[in-house]
Amino acid sequence: MTDRRAYYDDLLSLAREKRALHGVETGQFGLSAARRIYKAEGIKLHYWPLSYKIKAVYMCADGYSSVAVQKSLPDEPKLFALIHELKHHYRDQEALGSGAFICGDFNANELIEKGAEVFAAEFIYPRAEFEEDLAALGIKSWTAEDVVRLKRACKAKVSYTFLCKRLERLRKIARGQFAGVQFQKLEERLFGVPFYRQRRRSSV
Ligand SMILES: [Zn+2]
Repeated sequence: MTDRRAYYDDLLSLAREKRALHGVETGQFGLSAARRIYKAEGIKLHYWPLSYKIKAVYMCADGYSSVAVQKSLPDEPKLFALIHELKHHYRDQEALGSGAFICGDFNANELIEKGAEVFAAEFIYPRAEFEEDLAALGIKSWTAEDVVRLKRACKAKVSYTFLCKRLERLRKIARGQFAGVQFQKLEERLFGVPFYRQRRRSSV
């Protein structure tokens, strides 16, 4: 268990170090900034229509690295998947051998995969910044509506799944507390349909 903790701690440091190296600022960090990092790191990026269970794949052969990412993913999980793959690039080339890391919602290479999740979470939205944003909201007992408010208040480009997992880890909410909530619909009910999703509704 201690080894696991040490492994994760090392990845948290790596995430902070690489964020600084690439000048990442949470509020500005999105897909185009991630693509710039890929370019700087010499990783070729492909948008492939992968099987729906697969989010992304990391491959490396003869010193050439490439990542294929599921084309149909929404922006936030796509960004998360790209940074998850970045961890494989930095740390797992030896473990990879001549194969590929196929990453999705399953548990092959459990520690390596969970480590990539830990790395990506810290890289995209460092826990210290998350805790500052929580403190600013000052919520004691969390409701689903509060999670929507957090999503709108925080500057990081992360999904509702991300926020709920973080809140679970910090024991602000119980595990699976909001599992059945359709957050997008709830957000629209509270704040209206965002302009970019309104598609030519008749003007009133
Ligand atoms: Zn992976």
